[in-house]
Amino acid sequence: MGTGKPAERFCLGIESTADDFGVGVAAFDGKILANVTDGYVPEAGGIHPREAARHHSEVADKVLSEAFAKAQLKPKEISLVAFAQGPGLGPCLRTGATVARALSAYLGIPLVGVNHSVGHIEIGKLQTGAQDPLTLYASGGNTMVTAYASGRYRIFGETLDIALGNCLDVFAREAGIKNQKGTPLGAAVELLAAKGEKLVSLPYVVKGMDMSLSGLLTAASAALKKGERLEDVCFSLQENAFSMVTEVTERALAHTEKKEVLLTGGVAANKRLQSMLEVIAGEHDAKFSVVPQKFATDNGAMIAWTGALAYMNGLTTPVEESFVKVRWRVDKVDVPWVKTL
Ligand code: AMP
Ligand code: MG
Repeated sequence: MGTGKPAERFCLGIESTADDFGVGVAAFDGKILANVTDGYVPEAGGIHPREAARHHSEVADKVLSEAFAKAQLKPKEISLVAFAQGPGLGPCLRTGATVARALSAYLGIPLVGVNHSVGHIEIGKLQTGAQDPLTLYASGGNTMVTAYASGRYRIFGETLDIALGNCLDVFAREAGIKNQKGTPLGAAVELLAAKGEKLVSLPYVVKGMDMSLSGLLTAASAALKKGERLEDVCFSLQENAFSMVTEVTERALAHTEKKEVLLTGGVAANKRLQSMLEVIAGEHDAKFSVVPQKFATDNGAMIAWTGALAYMNGLTTPVEESFVKVRWRVDKVDVPWVKTL
């Protein structure tokens, strides 16, 4: 726990790219002192960006106070404020950025804009001990296979349309599975899939190193309407979608010859996806690791830790450059702190 000794440095990180508002505190040596999240649950349908942003502004003070209390730190003991600058939903990003700018100005400490996807990779590395992994980052808004090369995380394959988590979420909603706080829709699909017995024929679309999931989603919903059992369709949807991302991950692994495979992002919680990736990692003599559940979904700790890494390598974001970047790709971000063997 932080004692506020002058030699210790702490970064507070704010995550607000989509449905979650999170605040984390990371010490510069990698200790995570706090990681508090409050998620917005839509009344119906998917995330409404302005409603989610309103949620974030309503809970911001409560989440911040809880994070300070957990970290046992006073605001003036923080050395740096980091925030998720993109990619994400504009209104949600702007809410987090506004809180971060206000804190930085009030406390007179530097600001660092962090790429959300880089945050997922860095927290995965920190928590699992992976040094130079090939990473599958699969969440509600992103699906990509990345690995470090020449100063940046390069994208070896990605979805051409919807993200893996979004595919599961939209299917679940169309199937009438209700949103419940604390139980992600993807986890509900996973439970049903475990009771599936039959592989329903659904599209499998990999183009080069990229995958397309929207046709699979449409076909899965249609199969349900034609009378296939929900459990069988959940099972078949998972088998196809996870096989597609696993195929792309395996080819990237063969090409990059990395010795570690890391699974991160909200969908990392899925045991079936984990087991498929474990098999291909084993076949290529690579060590497989999964980010722990509490750091898998969007969280403030990953932003705090990545902000600390950036700052320790001389990077800060002047307030006039702190505008949010809705489509900020991971391969546009220099990561000078990454050192490979
Ligand atoms: P994130 O966007 O990183 O906050 O992650 C949220 C996404 O992870 C949503 O699409 C969830 O449905 C998905 N998710 C969470 N748990 C699971 C699970 N056990 N299996 C599949 N998807 C999941
Ligand atoms: Mg989320």
